[in-house]
Amino acid sequence: MQDHRKLGRDLELFHSDPLVGAGLPLWLPAGAAARRAVEDYLHALERRSGYQHVYSPPLAKQEMYLRSGHLPHFADDMFPPMALSEHDAFVLRPSLCPHHAAVFGARGRSYRELPLRIGEIGGQYRAERSGVLGGLSRVRAISLNDGHVFCAEEQVRDEVVEALRLMRVVHAALGFEPSSFRLSLRGEGGKYVDDPEMWAAASSVLREALDIAGVSYVEAPGEAAFYGPKIDVQLLDHAGRESTLATVQVDYFQPARFDLSYVDAGGERRRPVMVHRSAAGSMERLFAHLIEVHDGAFPAWYAPLQVAVLPVADAQAGGDFVRACRAADLRVEEWHAGSLGARIRQAAARKVPFVAVVGEREAAGGSVSLRPRDPGALSGVLPIAAAVAGLSEVCAAP
Ligand SMILES: [Zn+2]
Repeated sequence: MQDHRKLGRDLELFHSDPLVGAGLPLWLPAGAAARRAVEDYLHALERRSGYQHVYSPPLAKQEMYLRSGHLPHFADDMFPPMALSEHDAFVLRPSLCPHHAAVFGARGRSYRELPLRIGEIGGQYRAERSGVLGGLSRVRAISLNDGHVFCAEEQVRDEVVEALRLMRVVHAALGFEPSSFRLSLRGEGGKYVDDPEMWAAASSVLREALDIAGVSYVEAPGEAAFYGPKIDVQLLDHAGRESTLATVQVDYFQPARFDLSYVDAGGERRRPVMVHRSAAGSMERLFAHLIEVHDGAFPAWYAPLQVAVLPVADAQAGGDFVRACRAADLRVEEWHAGSLGARIRQAAARKVPFVAVVGEREAAGGSVSLRPRDPGALSGVLPIAAAVAGLSEVCAAP
């Protein structure tokens, strides 16, 4: 595997500007196109899996993070509060959970609405020391594929199993396998919420779910969130360093802190349990990994540029095909400059999944000659309509 920072530069996927600051990468058009394709896929998959999506702001009043427990337990990792006045301070959020708890609490809830699955790809912020920052793998502004399932106690296990299923679907679609699954448990020390019964219940339901899902895992004391144990999806980077991509957590703590409740079938008020889960992790860490795993040659459905059209001789020759590709929502560019050989080499360097050559013969016959990056993919001389239909199929998100 090659370092994603080098590939990211060569392929113009992202850029770090010292004036913007360390750990605050800019997604250049090619990187943004790939990320948008993945985000669209995640949104569609989550909708099909019963999620409702929301938008929430990346900051909130300081009081919210006193209530959530983040300021007492997690302040070292947070940016300092921004005071507007003596009684009015705001905090860049370290996680989306409290905002989603507020979404649940927006009105009274009935047991009939549970499990209520809320999703958002949203920003969260960590005050990482500048020495540990690099490329996309460790950043200060994180775009998290986040989700919170509010459910009844008896639904927790199935929701964790479902979150693990969703993760595996996502990993397969994106074309990678985690290095391991880790069950992160409470360790020694004062950083954890002190409620032994809660820890025991949450740990046992996670173990049960892992067994049902048939996931083998290692246990890691001292790696839990401050409010509960979690399942971590672990990755190895090009240098063999391990990091956590995504998690599933069972949380009895924050629903109590935010006094969340629903009315059960008997008309009694009950406390929901919060299952925190991310299927794909943060867009930054995910792409650091995808760039390395695929050596920059992304699967066609999220490749920044899917088709490079190379007209030979007649400059107009590729026009009809380019328009047809655009109309079919394919990411296409037409390249005129340089010899055909040079343009084919350029497409290979940029790892474009398909090159379409339009020579005199093809132009006269209303066809294109497709050359795939990956052996076995769609190839050969095809009429324009057939080429576009074929490309649409092989470039469609799963
Ligand atoms: Zn959460």
